[in-house]
Amino acid sequence: MKNLLRIAIVLGLTAASAGALAAEPVCRSSGTMGIQLLGSGGPISDDARASSGEVVWIDGKSRLLIDAGGGTYLRFGQAGARLEDLHFIGISHFHTDHSADLPAILKGAYFMASDNKVALAGPDGSDAFPSMSSFFKDMFGSKSGAFAYLEGLHDGSDGLRLTVSPVIDVDNHAEKPSLVYKDAEVTVYAYGIPHGDVPTLAFRIESKYGTIVISADQNGTRKGFVDFAKGADILVMPAAIDDDADAGSKYLHAPPTVVGKLAAAIDPKMLVLNHFMGKSLKDKDGNVKIIQQYYHGPVYEGRDLSCFEMPARK
Ligand SMILES: [Zn+2]
Repeated sequence: MKNLLRIAIVLGLTAASAGALAAEPVCRSSGTMGIQLLGSGGPISDDARASSGEVVWIDGKSRLLIDAGGGTYLRFGQAGARLEDLHFIGISHFHTDHSADLPAILKGAYFMASDNKVALAGPDGSDAFPSMSSFFKDMFGSKSGAFAYLEGLHDGSDGLRLTVSPVIDVDNHAEKPSLVYKDAEVTVYAYGIPHGDVPTLAFRIESKYGTIVISADQNGTRKGFVDFAKGADILVMPAAIDDDADAGSKYLHAPPTVVGKLAAAIDPKMLVLNHFMGKSLKDKDGNVKIIQQYYHGPVYEGRDLSCFEMPARK
């Protein structure tokens, strides 16, 4: 109850002023794990929301970054997240609203107070999209990379204090979840989810404090996702479209009815919605009501910098 109260207070603050949150250490509590939305919007810039990105806080440290869409560079700093504390970065897919700010965030490696090493995982490529390793090479490869001046990220050289290694390509068609990161504190799995023809991953983050599952964009048609997400304390799902969306949109995204049914089947302790855009934003409360017809746990409409800590155990 205490935690739920805290969340309500945080949401109130975010609704009132994202700026006020910059000084709020709410996601930095010791003795728990929390997720902070860097961006709660989609790829449209008219809604004053950054695109997708989340920081996972464990014992007050910013340990994981999942996605780095446009605008998350600024929110990363506002959240008080530190490159010095990161252990893992996961990129769900290579739409700009999930990946475009990665170079901008990593450039901060010139200005770190101490050395660090971070693992980076993303999906396998396709004809139309790069793999994680080819994206990394296209950005930071020596000579050919768009930002070849940051090639020191490969080994923490050239004044850059961050080593990005290993860089992992995850088979998004694999039947079983792929273990992508593990240390004494946290274990991370990735699993392919159907987002049109875009190779896309969901991430499952397990620590002694509980489990967070972050679904990026998906249309909800892969049955294995329910098993992948079962047991989650916090489930993050995109609310990108409305039930009346056209077939093309539904090939990419799950409408509220599908999000509600998925959440009901997974039955997390709380559901956090992000990736609001267009009509999903225009009738946000109406769309949430549809989700609540199926899923009866607490549903939170995420804002930029909203923080959600582990709910109290039942
Ligand atoms: Zn997408």
